[in-house]
Parts: sequence; structure tokens; C-alpha cells
Amino acid sequence: MFRKLRNWRVRRIVARHPIPEPLWQDALARCAPGRRLGASDQANLRVLATLFLREKSIEPVQGLELDDADRVLLAAHACVPILKLGIDWFDGWHSVIVYPDAFVPHRTQVDEAGVVHRTSTPMAGEAWGRGPVILSWADVLNAGKRPGHNVVIHEMAHKLDLQNGAANGFPPLHRGMDQRVWTQVFSGAWEHLRQARHQGIPIPIDPYGLENPAEFFAVVSEQFFEAPAMLREHLPEVYRQLEQFYRQHPY
Ligand SMILES: [Zn+2]
Repeated sequence: MFRKLRNWRVRRIVARHPIPEPLWQDALARCAPGRRLGASDQANLRVLATLFLREKSIEPVQGLELDDADRVLLAAHACVPILKLGIDWFDGWHSVIVYPDAFVPHRTQVDEAGVVHRTSTPMAGEAWGRGPVILSWADVLNAGKRPGHNVVIHEMAHKLDLQNGAANGFPPLHRGMDQRVWTQVFSGAWEHLRQARHQGIPIPIDPYGLENPAEFFAVVSEQFFEAPAMLREHLPEVYRQLEQFYRQHPY
């Protein structure tokens, strides 16, 4: 019954608020992970992007203006990770705040010694538990320009990770996936890369992924969709876990 109601609602939204063909083609042209999909997956991505644009509020700030084409592009990137999971995986939050460029979060942090710091590092994106996703539009437009980078996918990966509580690199796994294997694979790869970096050996992912397990999951998720061949070559076990989690085979 719920499913029927839901399907009816989805059909109604798609019928009433379709993404115009030129805007969709423009978005695909600028979204490599979407462009690589087959026709039926692209059609599903378009439905998800339509729902995303209805359910989320995209809020440009600091004088930034986003037109319909920009919003469709953002939605297309955002829905790549949930293509086989469904829009429900984005439940529990509402807004996407978009800055023109890298932004400096205005907040203070207390370190282990109890010292309060004002953070002052410019950021490309941020995602909070039940709060908004925050993005830098300049970085959104740079998706794929550095191999494996996609700030929208990165922040959405954090949102999926947050679905079962803390951002810790451990999203809710599907039935049939083994939690111990996930933990072993991710912590093993993370530790291995940390040691390599410590010894000055170049590593095949953005070093930001070594900050903590949550960032590692977000960084390898970006790479899974943006540069899958590279991830599969260098971190095949991580790649396989992500294939099972996202239920996609981008390479
Ligand atoms: Zn992050």
C-alpha cells in the first residue's frame, strides 16, 4: 500500500515538475558519472534528480545566483550515489546551502586539551547530521577536473554515512554485507595508506581521506564514481565493498 502510494506520488511529481530535456542533457554533459550510465540508469537518475529538486531547498548565499540549469546539475551530481539506493537515503535533512567559493565556517572547536579554536580553513563542502549540506559552487563546477574529485558526491557520502548516527565511515550496510569485512577492508586500507604517506610514498587518493575514517569513506566514494578504474586498480577490496554498498559498477 505504502509502495503504491509512493509510486503514485513519484509519478505525479515527475509529471508535474519534469526536468526539461535541454537542461537534463546539459547536466549530463557536465556530470561525468551520470554521463557514463546506460540509458535506463540515466532515466532513473533523472527521476531522482526531479525528486531531489522538489524535496530539498537549494539556497545560494553571498550574492550567488543559481539558475535552473545549475540546480539540475547539482541534483544530478547529488543523486549519483543514491541511484540504486533510493531518495529515502536522503531523508532527515532539507537544505543545500551554496557559497560562491570556498567558505570559512564560523564556529569554534574545543580540542582534547580543552582549548577553543576558531576554525579558519576554507572549505569546499560540509555536511551535518540532520542539518544542511554546505557547498562551494566553484568546487561543484570543478568536479572531475582533478581526477577523482567531486565535492557534491563527497558531501552526499557523508550524508549516507550519517544515516546510522555518527559520521565514522560506516554507513548502514545492506543485508548480505559483512560488517566485519567492511571494517577490516576500510581500516586496513586506511592504515596502509597512512603508513605509505608517512614514508613519503605517493598515495592513490586525496590525502584528505586520511584525516579520519569518515573522510576516507567520502574521498573513496568520490573516486569510486569519478575515477573508478584508478580506485579499482589501487584499492580493489575497497572498490568491491563500495560496489556492494552503492549497488553500482561504475568501472
Ligand atoms: Zn568531508
